[in-house]
Formats: sequence, structure tokens, C-alpha cells
Amino acid sequence: MKVDYFRHNLGEEEIQAFLEVIKSPFLTTGPKTAEFEAAFTSYLQTRHSVAVSSCTAGLFLALKALGIGPGDEVIVPPLTFIATANVVLHCGAKVVFADVEEDTGLLSLSATRMALSPRTKAIIPVHLYGQMVDMKGFRQLADEQGLKIIEDCAHAIEARRDNVGPGQLGDLAVFSFYATKNITCGEGGAITTNSSSLYETLRLLRQHGMSKSAADRYHGKYQHWDMLELGYKFNLPDIQSCLLLSQLKKIDQRWQRRQKICQRYEEEFSRAEISFPLVVAGAKSARHLFTVWAPTGKRDLMLAGLQERGIGVAVNYRSIHLLTYFQKHFGYEPGSFPKAEAIGERTVSLPLFPDLTAAEIDYVVTQTIDVFKNL
Ligand SMILES: *Cc1c(COP(=O)(O)O)cnc(C)c1O
Repeated sequence: MKVDYFRHNLGEEEIQAFLEVIKSPFLTTGPKTAEFEAAFTSYLQTRHSVAVSSCTAGLFLALKALGIGPGDEVIVPPLTFIATANVVLHCGAKVVFADVEEDTGLLSLSATRMALSPRTKAIIPVHLYGQMVDMKGFRQLADEQGLKIIEDCAHAIEARRDNVGPGQLGDLAVFSFYATKNITCGEGGAITTNSSSLYETLRLLRQHGMSKSAADRYHGKYQHWDMLELGYKFNLPDIQSCLLLSQLKKIDQRWQRRQKICQRYEEEFSRAEISFPLVVAGAKSARHLFTVWAPTGKRDLMLAGLQERGIGVAVNYRSIHLLTYFQKHFGYEPGSFPKAEAIGERTVSLPLFPDLTAAEIDYVVTQTIDVFKNL
């Protein structure tokens, strides 16, 4: 048997939406993107959302909109995708890593407090695997210290914790519609905010600081436009955003399916004494990824064993401060962030997507347990 690590869910509805845009005169950012932004805002219950070309572009724009640059420090967890830290470097600011909690893998509030300096301007917590960080705690810390919060919500559209959703307590929140994310248009992202002034800035920065978008210029009579800021070219075109609308309608139904799969994994793996990250009692994980922890020193053997049996796997993530670039430029060494390193050395991601069949789930369960027992 072979089980894919991931299969996307795009189907007939998305094909129809795509055809509709191709047959219309307007391909770039216009009515479909606006419709998606309105639907996304309403799903998340935030005030505004701005669709962008990727989550990476969105995180970068979020930092720019907050005016973060040289001389500033931004606190980031090392257990994340490199995009979370790289955008800080692209702004000319300093990445300050703070370690994660050992049971959840989420950025630790107390480690964040220890990493503060007079130059700290913002925190980028990551809602890792789909579970939100303690946003009430982070909001309180940020308010007390005069800091901004940009939530990395690449894994967490459907999440809730302590009655708040992603984007509701952060100054800005950034989402990904990359090929393997919970909803996707191949590449894409969105930024949400409750601040009207940040919203206006983001809309300008997304498209060269132009006072009128292509849609404004296309509909109605020609009007002169002006350049108000030095912006970027990070807009999401209708030809992509049209794919997201139908997926957003199905998002909760698909979450239910992943939730069932994760509950089965958790029951079976607990019984077999295989450990995995904790979902805090009462929290709703968006269930983006399901990871298990191999015994120390045995992770690569486990990856190989699962792949030999035809099971697709991934690693999310090895702690990024130990990647060559970060070691070389910032002098990090093993031991700098022991909790992120311990998870990064043991973690294995298993197949998780709504269309996994019952037979595939059974196979992943039995083979994972068998490989683990024979390590
Ligand atoms: C996927 C991902 C990103 C980057 O998303 P893109 O849309 O590919 O730019 C950022 N952070 C995390 C945690 C991610 O998983």
C-alpha cells in the first residue's frame, strides 16, 4: 500500500470558478479577490483583510506597515518555517529567537519575556500545527511592554483558544494559501487586522503604493493615480483567489474530518506509547499537521522505515537557528534553544488530509506503531 503525505482537495467547484474568471475580461486583483477578502474577514470575525501573493509577502508587509527596520528586534520561535524569521532580516531588523514549550512546541511566553530588550518592537508567535499560542497572555505582555504582535497563522485558520480566534488579539495576522495548507490556491496569503489605518497602509504597500488599483482603473472612466508610498508588488490575482471561495465554504466540514483522523491517531499512538505534541484542554486546533516524536537519535530511522512502507512523511521543522545560514551569520550553536532542538530532532509529520480513506488511516496507524517498536 502507498499513502500520500498530502493530496489537495480542489475539484469541480474550483474548476468552474477558475473557468469563470478565465472567461471574464479581468484576470488580476479585482472582484473575486474583493469577494474573498470579505468572506475571509467574515469567517475570522476580524475587521479587515488584504489578500497577498504569499504568507511570506504578508509577514514582510506586516512588519513594514508597523515601521519595523534597522535597530529593531523582533522575537520569533526557532521551531517554525524559515519564512517567519527571514522576513525580519529582509526588513533589516534583528531576529531574536525565544524557545518553545516542550509539550506543545509553541512559543513560550516566559522565554519571550526573557528575550525582551529595549529594542524589541514586535513578537511573531506561530500557531504551530494549528494550535494557537496563549494569545491572551501574549497580548497582555505586548500591552505592558508597548509591543506589536504579528500572528503567523499559516497553520491556523480554523483554530480557537480561550474563546479567541486567529487575528482577533494580534495587531496583524498572516495566513498562507500555499499548496499544502488547509485552503489553497497554489501560492497565496492574506493579512487580517482590526486597525483601519494599518489596513489602508497594507493596501498601498501591496501594490506599489498606488492610490488606485487596476480594478479602480478598469471600472468606470480613466482617473489619474498617484504613488503615495514606496510599495511592493504582492497582490493576489482573481485567477487565484477565485479558488479560495468555495474552499472557505467547506473549511469547517474538512476540519471535522481532519479532527476525526487526529483523534484516531492520538488514541492509537497513546496506547502504543508514542508521544506527540499536546493540544491544550479546551483549545481547538486547526489540525493542519499531525506530528509524532521518535525516540532521541532515531528520527531519521523512523522516516526511512515509514517511507519503505510507502507512507509519505515530512519534517516540520528542524529548529531553524541551526540551519547553515543562521549558524554562520549569527553564531548559534546546538544548545542555544534546547526545547526547540529536542522537538526538531525527533519530529515526524504523518499524512493528514480530509480525503484519507479508512484503509489508509489504518495502514498509517499500524505501520507507524510497527516501525516505532522496531527502532
Ligand atoms: C507555509 C508557512 C509560511 C509561509 O507561507 P507561504 O505562503 O509559502 O509564504 C510561513 N510560516 C509558516 C509557519 C508556514 O508553515
